[in-house]
Amino acid sequence: MKEEDFVETVTPFKEVIDEIKQDGGEAVKYCYQCGKCDSVCPWNKVRNFSMRKLIREATFGLTEIENEEIWRCTTCGKCPQKCPRDVKQIDDMIAVRRMATSYGVFPAAVKPIRGVSSNLGAEGNPFGESRKNRADWADGLSVKTFEEGMEVLYFPGCYLCYDPRLKKVAKATASILNKAGVDYGILGEQENCCGESIRKTGNEEMFKKLAKENIKTFIENGVKKIVVSSPHCLHTFKNEYPEFRANFEVVHITEFLFQLINEGRLQINKEYAKKITYHDPCYLGRHNGVFDEPRGVLTKVPGLELIEMSESREESFCCGMGGGRIWMETHTSDRFANLRLKDAIDLGAEELVTACPYCITMFEDSRAVGNLDDVIQIKDITEVLNEVI
Ligand code: SF4
Ligand code: SF4
Repeated sequence: MKEEDFVETVTPFKEVIDEIKQDGGEAVKYCYQCGKCDSVCPWNKVRNFSMRKLIREATFGLTEIENEEIWRCTTCGKCPQKCPRDVKQIDDMIAVRRMATSYGVFPAAVKPIRGVSSNLGAEGNPFGESRKNRADWADGLSVKTFEEGMEVLYFPGCYLCYDPRLKKVAKATASILNKAGVDYGILGEQENCCGESIRKTGNEEMFKKLAKENIKTFIENGVKKIVVSSPHCLHTFKNEYPEFRANFEVVHITEFLFQLINEGRLQINKEYAKKITYHDPCYLGRHNGVFDEPRGVLTKVPGLELIEMSESREESFCCGMGGGRIWMETHTSDRFANLRLKDAIDLGAEELVTACPYCITMFEDSRAVGNLDDVIQIKDITEVLNEVI
């Protein structure tokens, strides 16, 4: 029996295979079941999970879209970099989720994404907060509305605009940009979610809607260069919006700060006598190759001792919230962030510093749940820098 015949006779979901193949996921058929993906997957530190098995099932059209397992991959990027057959595990899982989404099949833990989707449609953010309040974080700070000709557009993203913990990061960023004399502005009410996480849940329609609205706004406002705080916005604007023939210069705040320091626009004039470790967010490091700039910023700070966790840079351990998992329910015992926080504590770090709103949210939750407030602090890199300039 040929593979095609097998598919026709066995699977009730031939569309899954077609979707995967359309997605450049032809490579599923090259999987030779070596299991390297499973050996590096963070899920296997908290429970049994097999990407190898999911790829096998997808290859033969045996995917069960009711299966909660298809929603587990956090798209951390660890297994694609180890796979000897160049299988596109992430694209394939998103294709499978697209099928589940189109049939409206969501297991209980995944159901919250339906509310997220309607919030995005109504207010342009996943929380269902009013669009009108999007720039409230900047009240009392000298933050202008973006105008054509400004050096950069600063795009804080949903978490930094609405979440009380992450608003502190937006404020620290604005304070640094002000001190460095950067000519920047924000879009305020005109800013929309970048659409990254909802795309990973298989809701392509909502992603396209958000992307098109953002691109239109950028073009109408004469935006050329965008500085983002979230590695997820970075990834989407830089690598996915070009699918719509939109090409803007996009840099992550850590890259921009490193440049400002090197150009002498930002003077560091205080000590930060602490032992810290840096966590590479998956979408900043593995997916976009930004490893050196955050470390470059931190090592310029006098008194700061930077120590590395064993799983760092390309081998960094995922916080667990990529791939749209941030909107799904994760059992306490399945939280990757608990393990990552333990790595940092075991290393003797006083602070775990990172550069992603999802990572900060997860680590802060793990710190609260573990009663670790006196043991370790969680900081965004901008919060560290803002204290020493
Ligand atoms: S690492 Fe690649 S080839 Fe090996 S089982 Fe996983 S998907 Fe298949
Ligand atoms: S991308 Fe990451 S979470 Fe997803 S299967 Fe691969 S290693 Fe696991």
